[in-house]
Amino acid sequence: MLLEIKNLTVKYGPVVALREASFQVEEKDMITLVGANGAGKSTTLRTISGLEKPAGGEIWYDGHRIDGMPAEKILPLGISQVPEGRRVFPGLSVAENLHTGAYTRKDKAEVQRDLEWIYEIFPRLRERHTQAARTLSGGEQQMLAIGRALMARPHLLLLDEPSLGLAPKIVQEIAHTLQEIQRQGVSVILVEQNAELALELAQYGYVLETGQISLEGPTSELRDNETVREAYLGV
Ligand code: ATP
Repeated sequence: MLLEIKNLTVKYGPVVALREASFQVEEKDMITLVGANGAGKSTTLRTISGLEKPAGGEIWYDGHRIDGMPAEKILPLGISQVPEGRRVFPGLSVAENLHTGAYTRKDKAEVQRDLEWIYEIFPRLRERHTQAARTLSGGEQQMLAIGRALMARPHLLLLDEPSLGLAPKIVQEIAHTLQEIQRQGVSVILVEQNAELALELAQYGYVLETGQISLEGPTSELRDNETVREAYLGV
């Protein structure tokens, strides 16, 4: 097991954003957390990457207990997050943005090799490597945000709403890339409001409802589940 979350509870003052949630990610797996606005999806990712401290429960990653550890200690263990809203550095070039993703790494030759790897996955980033990030389209900025997270060479990639606000064609392009990234051995937790996309890409899914996991299963089964179809797939 790569990641194991046990009875995780996260509070913002009196607001319980996540209540006793338990789930797992196996090596080389892609799982998805599906749920409405405010269900606790982002909170879950932020807690795994050390940006929020849990009020209860445990997070185990690759044999280490990481709940409550600061983000800067968790990143080097191999967990990297692509935040919602693709926050790239607007004034820096594409290449400079990518380099910021590798700031904790000392292996310069390997970093250079990974940069090449990212340009292979996202040829558009290579074409635009000298261009300031602010001049990229929304889809290209999302690619850059994913590329930057990959520059930390994670074993586990946390993705928060990668399809948000993007045209269907770009969403498909990014979807293919995520499959490729998984094929290359990176485990992924995908958070999406676009449940159709998430259930198509991931192998296993969890449905979050007001901070609690209400349903889980292989995505092939969730896609046929009547509650999921009515609440999240609009059928
Ligand atoms: P969305 O899809 O809208 O991003 P989400 O499923 O990711 O939703 P979260 O952002 O995790 O949901 O929010 C879960 C709950 O915690 C919500 O009720 C939200 O209002 C609350 N919450 C999130 N961040 C904070 C914060 N910094 N302070 C107070 N409450 C917060």
